[in-house]
Amino acid sequence: MHEYGIAYDLYATARTAAIENHADRVKKVRVEVGKMAMVNPEQVAFLFDMIKEDDALFSTTVLECTEVDPQTRCPCGYSGTEVFVCPRCGALPELVKGREIVVTHIEIEVDD
Ligand SMILES: [Zn+2]
Repeated sequence: MHEYGIAYDLYATARTAAIENHADRVKKVRVEVGKMAMVNPEQVAFLFDMIKEDDALFSTTVLECTEVDPQTRCPCGYSGTEVFVCPRCGALPELVKGREIVVTHIEIEVDD
C-alpha cells in the first residue's frame, strides 16, 4: 500500500529527529501533503497511529496533516496553481510543488 510506506517514512523521520534531540516524548508531528501526491491524509494518519503504537516515544503523538495546493509554471511565463492546462498558452504546465510529503515540524518533550 502506497500510504503505508509514506506513514512509515514519516514515523522514521520523526523518530530520528526525536532521538537526535534527546526527546522523551514526541507531542506533535506536522506534515505537509501536496494535493498532487495522490495520498489520502486520513489514511496516512491512521497508518501512522498503527505503526507508532508500540513505541513509547510516540505514545501521545498527534499527527497533523495539512494539504498544500500545487504550484506550476509554464515556459510561456505562467505560474500558478493550474495543473493540467496552462491558462495562457494551453500547454501542460510543469509541476513545481505539490507532490511532496514532508515533515515540517516536530514538537518534543524532554524530561529533566
Ligand atoms: Zn503556458
